[in-house]
Amino acid sequence: MVIVFIGPPGAGKGTQCRRLAAHLGVPHLSTGELLRDTRDDSDLGRLVAGYIDAGRLAPDDVVLPILTKRLSNEDCANGCLLDGFPRNVNQAEMLDQYLADRGQRLDLVLHLDVGRQELIKRLLRRAKTEQRVDDTEDVIAKRLDVFHRQTAPVLDYYRDQDHFVVINGMQSPDEVFSEILSHLGGSETS
Ligand code: ADP
Repeated sequence: MVIVFIGPPGAGKGTQCRRLAAHLGVPHLSTGELLRDTRDDSDLGRLVAGYIDAGRLAPDDVVLPILTKRLSNEDCANGCLLDGFPRNVNQAEMLDQYLADRGQRLDLVLHLDVGRQELIKRLLRRAKTEQRVDDTEDVIAKRLDVFHRQTAPVLDYYRDQDHFVVINGMQSPDEVFSEILSHLGGSETS
Protein backbone atom coordinates (compact mmCIF):
# COMPACT_ATOMS: atom_id res chain seq x y z
CA MET A 1 0.00 0.00 0.00
CA VAL A 2 1.48 3.34 -1.07
CA ILE A 3 -0.12 6.47 0.38
CA VAL A 4 0.89 10.02 -0.54
CA PHE A 5 0.39 12.97 1.81
CA ILE A 6 0.23 16.39 0.21
CA GLY A 7 -0.12 19.61 2.13
CA PRO A 8 1.62 22.91 2.70
CA PRO A 9 4.35 23.30 5.31
CA GLY A 10 2.73 23.14 8.75
CA ALA A 11 -0.32 21.17 7.60
CA GLY A 12 0.56 18.27 9.92
CA LYS A 13 1.86 15.75 7.38
CA GLY A 14 4.72 14.61 9.63
CA THR A 15 2.48 14.17 12.69
CA GLN A 16 -0.19 12.23 10.80
CA CYS A 17 2.33 10.12 8.87
CA ARG A 18 4.05 9.04 12.07
CA ARG A 19 0.71 7.93 13.54
CA LEU A 20 -0.48 6.20 10.39
CA ALA A 21 2.88 4.47 9.87
CA ALA A 22 2.64 3.00 13.37
CA HIS A 23 -0.99 2.01 12.76
CA LEU A 24 -0.33 0.30 9.42
CA GLY A 25 3.17 -1.01 10.14
CA VAL A 26 4.70 0.54 7.02
CA PRO A 27 7.59 3.03 6.94
CA HIS A 28 7.15 6.80 6.84
CA LEU A 29 9.36 8.34 4.17
CA SER A 30 9.82 12.09 4.49
CA THR A 31 11.86 13.57 1.64
CA GLY A 32 12.49 16.63 3.86
CA GLU A 33 14.13 14.34 6.44
CA LEU A 34 15.99 12.32 3.81
CA LEU A 35 17.37 15.56 2.37
CA ARG A 36 18.23 17.01 5.78
CA ASP A 37 20.22 13.80 6.43
CA THR A 38 22.42 14.57 3.42
CA ARG A 39 23.52 17.90 4.95
CA ASP A 40 27.25 17.60 5.47
CA ASP A 41 30.51 18.90 4.06
CA SER A 42 30.17 17.08 0.74
CA ASP A 43 29.28 18.94 -2.47
CA LEU A 44 25.86 17.25 -2.46
CA GLY A 45 25.28 18.12 1.20
CA ARG A 46 26.10 21.78 0.61
CA LEU A 47 23.96 21.91 -2.53
CA VAL A 48 20.92 20.45 -0.73
CA ALA A 49 21.41 22.71 2.30
CA GLY A 50 21.35 25.75 0.01
CA TYR A 51 17.90 24.83 -1.31
CA ILE A 52 16.42 23.90 2.07
CA ASP A 53 17.69 27.04 3.79
CA ALA A 54 16.22 29.20 1.01
CA GLY A 55 12.87 27.38 1.19
CA ARG A 56 13.19 26.24 -2.42
CA LEU A 57 12.72 22.74 -3.81
CA ALA A 58 15.88 20.71 -4.29
CA PRO A 59 16.33 19.70 -7.96
CA ASP A 60 14.40 16.60 -9.09
CA ASP A 61 17.61 14.86 -10.22
CA VAL A 62 18.93 15.14 -6.67
CA VAL A 63 15.72 14.12 -4.87
CA LEU A 64 14.75 11.22 -7.13
CA PRO A 65 17.80 8.98 -6.57
CA ILE A 66 17.66 9.60 -2.82
CA LEU A 67 13.98 8.62 -2.71
CA THR A 68 14.20 5.59 -5.02
CA LYS A 69 17.18 4.24 -3.07
CA ARG A 70 15.07 4.43 0.10
CA LEU A 71 12.00 2.97 -1.68
CA SER A 72 13.99 -0.03 -2.85
CA ASN A 73 14.76 -0.92 0.77
CA GLU A 74 13.21 -4.18 1.90
CA ASP A 75 11.05 -2.51 4.55
CA CYS A 76 9.05 -0.81 1.77
CA ALA A 77 8.05 -4.15 0.22
CA ASN A 78 4.52 -3.87 1.67
CA GLY A 79 4.23 -0.18 0.96
CA CYS A 80 5.06 3.12 2.59
CA LEU A 81 3.77 6.57 3.38
CA LEU A 82 5.23 9.38 1.29
CA ASP A 83 5.50 12.72 3.10
CA GLY A 84 6.75 15.63 0.99
CA PHE A 85 6.86 13.77 -2.30
CA PRO A 86 5.74 14.43 -5.00
CA ARG A 87 6.13 18.20 -4.69
CA ASN A 88 5.81 19.15 -8.34
CA VAL A 89 4.08 17.63 -11.37
CA ASN A 90 7.31 16.19 -12.77
CA GLN A 91 7.87 14.29 -9.51
CA ALA A 92 4.27 13.01 -9.63
CA GLU A 93 4.83 11.68 -13.13
CA MET A 94 8.11 10.07 -12.15
CA LEU A 95 6.47 8.42 -9.15
CA ASP A 96 3.70 6.98 -11.34
CA GLN A 97 6.35 5.64 -13.72
CA TYR A 98 8.45 4.18 -10.89
CA LEU A 99 5.43 2.35 -9.45
CA ALA A 100 4.12 1.22 -12.86
CA ASP A 101 7.54 -0.32 -13.65
CA ARG A 102 7.06 -2.46 -10.54
CA GLY A 103 3.42 -3.33 -11.18
CA GLN A 104 2.32 -1.06 -8.32
CA ARG A 105 0.18 2.04 -8.07
CA LEU A 106 -0.81 4.65 -5.53
CA ASP A 107 -3.57 3.50 -3.20
CA LEU A 108 -4.47 6.85 -1.73
CA VAL A 109 -3.57 10.52 -2.11
CA LEU A 110 -4.45 12.59 0.96
CA HIS A 111 -4.51 16.35 0.71
CA LEU A 112 -4.21 17.92 4.17
CA ASP A 113 -5.93 21.27 3.77
CA VAL A 114 -5.13 24.13 6.18
CA GLY A 115 -5.58 27.91 5.81
CA ARG A 116 -2.57 30.21 5.39
CA GLN A 117 -2.91 32.15 8.68
CA GLU A 118 -3.12 28.92 10.68
CA LEU A 119 -0.05 27.52 8.86
CA ILE A 120 2.05 30.59 9.65
CA LYS A 121 0.94 30.45 13.30
CA ARG A 122 1.86 26.76 13.60
CA LEU A 123 5.24 27.15 11.90
CA LEU A 124 6.25 30.13 14.03
CA ARG A 125 5.22 28.18 17.12
CA ARG A 126 7.30 25.19 15.95
CA ALA A 127 10.27 27.51 15.39
CA LYS A 128 10.36 28.14 19.13
CA THR A 129 10.70 24.45 20.02
CA GLU A 130 12.58 22.92 17.07
CA GLN A 131 15.76 24.27 15.60
CA ARG A 132 14.86 24.15 11.91
CA VAL A 133 16.81 26.74 9.93
CA ASP A 134 13.91 27.08 7.48
CA ASP A 135 11.30 28.04 10.11
CA THR A 136 12.01 31.79 9.99
CA GLU A 137 9.28 34.19 8.88
CA ASP A 138 10.95 34.93 5.51
CA VAL A 139 11.66 31.30 4.64
CA ILE A 140 8.18 30.20 5.77
CA ALA A 141 6.66 32.75 3.36
CA LYS A 142 8.91 31.42 0.59
CA ARG A 143 7.94 27.77 1.31
CA LEU A 144 4.23 28.64 1.24
CA ASP A 145 4.75 30.44 -2.04
CA VAL A 146 6.61 27.42 -3.48
CA PHE A 147 3.74 25.19 -2.33
CA HIS A 148 1.18 27.30 -4.20
CA ARG A 149 3.23 27.65 -7.35
CA GLN A 150 4.76 24.16 -7.65
CA THR A 151 2.87 21.72 -5.41
CA ALA A 152 -0.73 22.92 -5.80
CA PRO A 153 -0.67 21.80 -9.48
CA VAL A 154 0.05 18.28 -8.18
CA LEU A 155 -3.39 18.39 -6.51
CA ASP A 156 -4.92 19.06 -9.93
CA TYR A 157 -2.88 16.17 -11.32
CA TYR A 158 -4.49 13.78 -8.79
CA ARG A 159 -7.88 15.44 -8.27
CA ASP A 160 -9.81 13.46 -10.85
CA GLN A 161 -8.56 10.10 -9.64
CA ASP A 162 -10.87 8.11 -7.38
CA HIS A 163 -8.22 7.64 -4.70
CA PHE A 164 -7.83 11.40 -4.08
CA VAL A 165 -9.22 12.69 -0.77
CA VAL A 166 -9.23 16.13 0.86
CA ILE A 167 -8.80 16.04 4.65
CA ASN A 168 -9.75 19.00 6.84
CA GLY A 169 -6.41 19.72 8.53
CA MET A 170 -7.84 22.54 10.69
CA GLN A 171 -9.14 20.01 13.23
CA SER A 172 -7.29 18.58 16.25
CA PRO A 173 -4.62 15.94 15.47
CA ASP A 174 -6.94 13.19 16.80
CA GLU A 175 -9.83 14.35 14.61
CA VAL A 176 -7.59 14.58 11.55
CA PHE A 177 -6.31 11.07 12.22
CA SER A 178 -9.87 9.66 12.53
CA GLU A 179 -10.82 11.34 9.28
CA ILE A 180 -7.80 9.75 7.58
CA LEU A 181 -8.66 6.32 8.99
CA SER A 182 -12.21 6.64 7.69
CA HIS A 183 -10.81 6.79 4.15
CA LEU A 184 -8.56 3.75 4.42
CA GLY A 185 -11.32 1.24 3.87
CA GLY A 186 -10.01 -1.52 1.60
CA SER A 187 -6.45 -0.13 1.52
CA GLU A 188 -5.88 -1.31 5.06
CA THR A 189 -6.28 -4.94 4.15
CA SER A 190 -4.75 -4.93 0.66
P1 ADP B 1 7.75 21.30 5.06
O1 ADP B 1 6.67 20.43 4.48
O2 ADP B 1 7.37 21.83 6.41
O3 ADP B 1 8.26 22.36 4.13
P2 ADP B 1 9.78 19.22 4.69
O4 ADP B 1 10.62 18.63 5.76
O5 ADP B 1 8.82 18.33 3.98
O6 ADP B 1 9.01 20.42 5.41
O7 ADP B 1 10.73 19.90 3.57
C1 ADP B 1 11.78 20.78 3.92
C2 ADP B 1 12.54 21.19 2.66
O8 ADP B 1 13.13 20.04 2.03
C3 ADP B 1 11.72 21.84 1.54
O9 ADP B 1 11.49 23.23 1.74
C4 ADP B 1 12.62 21.57 0.31
O10 ADP B 1 13.72 22.45 0.28
C5 ADP B 1 13.15 20.17 0.61
N1 ADP B 1 12.30 19.10 0.00
C6 ADP B 1 11.51 18.21 0.68
N2 ADP B 1 10.90 17.38 -0.18
C7 ADP B 1 11.28 17.75 -1.42
C8 ADP B 1 10.97 17.29 -2.74
N3 ADP B 1 10.12 16.25 -2.96
N4 ADP B 1 11.56 17.91 -3.80
C9 ADP B 1 12.41 18.93 -3.61
N5 ADP B 1 12.74 19.43 -2.41
C10 ADP B 1 12.18 18.85 -1.31
